[in-house]
Amino acid sequence: MSQPVLLRSYLKALRLPVFQREHEQAARQCSETGRAYEDYLELLAGREVSSRESKAADKRLKQAGFPFSKELSDFEFSAVPSLSKSRILELSKGGFLQKKENVILLGPPGVGKTHLAVALGREACRSGFKARFFTAGGLVNTYLEAREESRILKLEASLSRLNLIIVDELGYIPFSQSGSEHLFAFFSRCYETVSVLVTTNLPFSEWPQLFGGDERLAGALLDRLTHKVHIVDIQADSYRFRESLKAQEGGEKETH
Ligand code: ADP
Ligand code: MG
Repeated sequence: MSQPVLLRSYLKALRLPVFQREHEQAARQCSETGRAYEDYLELLAGREVSSRESKAADKRLKQAGFPFSKELSDFEFSAVPSLSKSRILELSKGGFLQKKENVILLGPPGVGKTHLAVALGREACRSGFKARFFTAGGLVNTYLEAREESRILKLEASLSRLNLIIVDELGYIPFSQSGSEHLFAFFSRCYETVSVLVTTNLPFSEWPQLFGGDERLAGALLDRLTHKVHIVDIQADSYRFRESLKAQEGGEKETH
């Protein structure tokens, strides 16, 4: 009687909840199939490790702050024939993160840039990388707030612990002078230390207008961002727009 109690306290002290929960069932399973002691230990240790990994992945997914949870499997590649599926699948393996390379998803509104950015970010979290999602405006505001509260260094330290920073929707709103400077500082800090994935509707030639017409700043920023970069140019009609057209056509057919 005292043995299970002792065992339970050992397993608790060692923080092995899966051992604690499943050791009896695993012992039955192994003795029924005549498996060796090592197999029993391996079975339990394997379950403990996968439980830990999946909890850690859930935590990374939560901390990334994705606006929604769309996956690559939800993406209809056939709707965007000009986009190479194998290229996106290659990016989803995360090699670019190990090499601290950047990704730019370029294209007009509604073609799935944010969807792909989130899906790639989620894959990265599941593979053990730490990611964080920002809209470009949100990132600038985060910097401005941190400066107000004198905690820029803390913010930068927390960003430097990440493997992937997503900057969504660069190009919709031009930045103030101080916003532009923060963004420049951000890209400079990330250069060769943290991968950045940018989604944008603006061709590079139009980036200066984002930074109050400052060609030098835009040029220097682009220089850092595009040094080691995978540019995915998605030229297609808006998926959202096509879907609503389809829905309307369907509705019209039903009413006839
Ligand atoms: P963008 O960021 O390029 O403006 P979004 O990623 O916001 O576009 O896409 C708009 C909506 O359409 C989202 O709900 C997204 O999930 C969906 N969508 C876009 N392209 C596709 C696609 N090829 N397959 C499935 N859903 C898509
Ligand atoms: Mg978007």
